[in-house]
Amino acid sequence: MRLQGKVALVTGAGSGIGRGIAEAFVREGASVALADWSEPGGKESLAQIEAAHGTAILVLGDVSHAQDAQRMVDACIERFGRIDILVNNAGILRSGALHETDEQTWDLVLDVNLKSVYLLSHAALPHMLGQGKGRILNIASVAGLQGFEKLAAYCASKGAIVELTRNMAVDYSPLGINVNCIAPGLIATAMTAGILEQEASREAFVSQTPTHSVGQPEDIASAAVYLCSDESDFVTGEVLVIDGGLTVR
Ligand code: NAP
Repeated sequence: MRLQGKVALVTGAGSGIGRGIAEAFVREGASVALADWSEPGGKESLAQIEAAHGTAILVLGDVSHAQDAQRMVDACIERFGRIDILVNNAGILRSGALHETDEQTWDLVLDVNLKSVYLLSHAALPHMLGQGKGRILNIASVAGLQGFEKLAAYCASKGAIVELTRNMAVDYSPLGINVNCIAPGLIATAMTAGILEQEASREAFVSQTPTHSVGQPEDIASAAVYLCSDESDFVTGEVLVIDGGLTVR
C-alpha cells in the first residue's frame, strides 16, 4: 500500500500503459480518476478496477483541449477533494519522415502528446501548490532520446516532454512537487500491435533488445508506483528509461 490515501489522475487510462498504471495505483491504495477520450476503453478500465474493489471515476475528454483538460482535473477534485499525482500518459503515434508529415498530422501529434502535458499540468498545479506536495509523471519514449526512423512528429513531441520534465522539476521541486518522466521502449499495447503482429518487425526489435523481450504495461506501472510514492522523495527531473536495454547499445 505504497500509495495509500493518495489521489491520482491518469490520462490515457482506457488502454495499455495508462490502464496498467491506474490498476497498479489502485492496488497500492490510491483512488484514481481515469481520463480518456475512448468511452469503451475507459469503461473497461473502470469495470476492472471496480471488480477488484478499487475506487475510481471515469472522465471522458480530449487531453489536447483546454476545457476537457480542466474538466478532468475538476472532476478529480470534485470527487476526491484533492490531486496528489498527475500522470500525463495519453499519446498517439503517427509515422513519417518530416517531408512526409503534413501540417495537420504534425499539429495533432504535438497537441495530443505535448500540449496535453502543459494543459493538464496547468490545471492540476494550482491544487498541488496549494497542498504543498504533489507528483507529476510524464510518459515520454526512447524516441525522445534517440533518432528513430520515420517518426518526426512523434520524436519531436517526446523529446520536448523530456526537456519540459527537467524544466518543471527545477521550477516545482522547491515547492514540494517532484516531476519525473519514464521513457519506455517497445511495450505490448494497442499502439504497438501493428509492429508486434508482424513477425519480421517484432523480431527486428526483439533481436536489438538485450533482454530479447517485449515490455508489458506492468513494467512501466511498477516504476510509476515508485516515482509517485514517497519512496522517491529525492528523485526529480529523472528520465527513467525502461526498454530492456534497447538504447544502451
Ligand atoms: P494505447 O494503448 O494506444 O493507449 C493510449 C490511450 O490514450 C488510448 O486509450 C487512447 O484512446 C487514449 N488517447 C489518445 N489520444 C487521446 C486524447 N487526445 N485524449 C484522451 N485520450 C487519448 O497506447 P500506449 O502504448 O499505452 O501508450 C501510452 C503512452 O506511452 C503514450 O504516450 C505513448 O506515446 C507512450 N509510449 C508507448 C510505447 C509503447 O511501446 N507502447 C513506447 C514508448 C512510449 P484511443 O485508443 O481511442 O485513441
